[in-house]
Amino acid sequence: MNVYDSSRIAEILKSLGHRETTDIREADIVIFNTCHIREKAAEKVFSDLGRLNQIREERLEQGKETIIGVTGCVVQAEDEQIWKRAPFVDFATGPLTYHRLPEILAKISRNKHNFIIDTEFPAEDKFDFLPKNHASGGCSYLAIQEGCNNFCTYCVVPYTRGAEYSRPVEAVLTEAQRLVEEGAVELNLLGQNVNSYHGEDRMGHERSLAYLIRKLAELDGLKRIRYTTSYPADMTDDLIDCYRDVDKLMPYLHLPIQSGSDKILKAMNRRHTSGDYLRIIDKLKDAKPEIGMSSDFIVGFPAEDDNDFQATLDIVNKVKFIQAFSFKYSPRPGTPAALMKNQIPEKVKKERLEILQTLLFDYQNKFNQASIGQTMSVLFESKGRHAGQLIGRTPYMQNLHAKVPEDKLNQIVMVKVTSATTNSLTGSVVGE
Ligand code: SAH
Ligand code: SF4
Repeated sequence: MNVYDSSRIAEILKSLGHRETTDIREADIVIFNTCHIREKAAEKVFSDLGRLNQIREERLEQGKETIIGVTGCVVQAEDEQIWKRAPFVDFATGPLTYHRLPEILAKISRNKHNFIIDTEFPAEDKFDFLPKNHASGGCSYLAIQEGCNNFCTYCVVPYTRGAEYSRPVEAVLTEAQRLVEEGAVELNLLGQNVNSYHGEDRMGHERSLAYLIRKLAELDGLKRIRYTTSYPADMTDDLIDCYRDVDKLMPYLHLPIQSGSDKILKAMNRRHTSGDYLRIIDKLKDAKPEIGMSSDFIVGFPAEDDNDFQATLDIVNKVKFIQAFSFKYSPRPGTPAALMKNQIPEKVKKERLEILQTLLFDYQNKFNQASIGQTMSVLFESKGRHAGQLIGRTPYMQNLHAKVPEDKLNQIVMVKVTSATTNSLTGSVVGE
């Protein structure tokens, strides 16, 4: 979601006549788009801002001004604190108000000595005000839903991104059509809780993510559909059926479970048990036997004991995730879990994370090794480090490098996998 927001911010700046630079010393405007999900991410912003301030001062000596802005969830959560901790920042906006950047920049150009902060939850829909989303390559993000009403007890998202909102069906379909016309062959539908999508159609009827996927699959030229991130309790049978019926829907699903222990899931306020999760996987496998699962895990949630942690390892051994993200629980100010008793010592969190990651990487590596010899469709998205090499993604989101002519960038090519590591595959082209 943040990658998507950052690209939209870049588009706003381009629409105002600015150009992108890769050399930060050349930049007249620098905007940090920030994440507040864990303490480490949030604190990094302030050390990065400190470094940037030095560059700002060096540029000032050469007579060049630098405008520094901060956007995203850190702003929503820290509000005026940003300015107290980094007084050289010119403006800050939350994740729901960055479409107001043109006004903000205009105000700054009128009076540079004004700190502007905008952390409203606006009445207007930011999607109506953003410049058109353009396909940046073969794979495009398309935001269809924002915010979350789930209030997992550890999570800041409902506070920083606000209440759940679904874009209307027509707006999504029109944008999708344009992205495909501009060359997108894969669409990744985005939302904090994307499978709770319930946008209205022209008749005012609420439509589900399953409906949207079936509609999008009708677009000629679109070859792949993905969506992220999903909430287990919202995995409806209709959505699961799409894996049986819609060939364009990729056989890969990121479905965060967080923990294998029902006691911990309850304390997290997740509306699913580990048994529910396994039943969803059974149905998905029934609909699409070759489906690969990915997940998020939190270790060291308050009161997690050895048995709870073992339950997490057990579920990994049952599901055999092909990829996963795992984190140490990070207490976030203002969330209920931060105030819970029995916070877990850092040392224990670290040990548990290492054990879990070793197991997860083992399954990821096994899956990648099993890919050797298979022919897979790969969407090439960027140039590799070596000349003549491109990097792409398999249907299972594995990174794959191959020697491919550059004109195959942003296209889907059939590739035979020749070798594999835990993090990537290598292959050779066999056809289109
Ligand atoms: N809406 C998505 C995830 C959003 S946050 C979902 O429900 O799955 C992405 C991931 O960050 C979460 O899945 C969770 O694993 C992790 N996360 C969120 N808050 C956290 C916290 N306080 N400490 C550690 N990890 C956290
Ligand atoms: Fe956060 Fe996801 Fe839970 Fe929403 S569903 S509160 S975004 S972890």
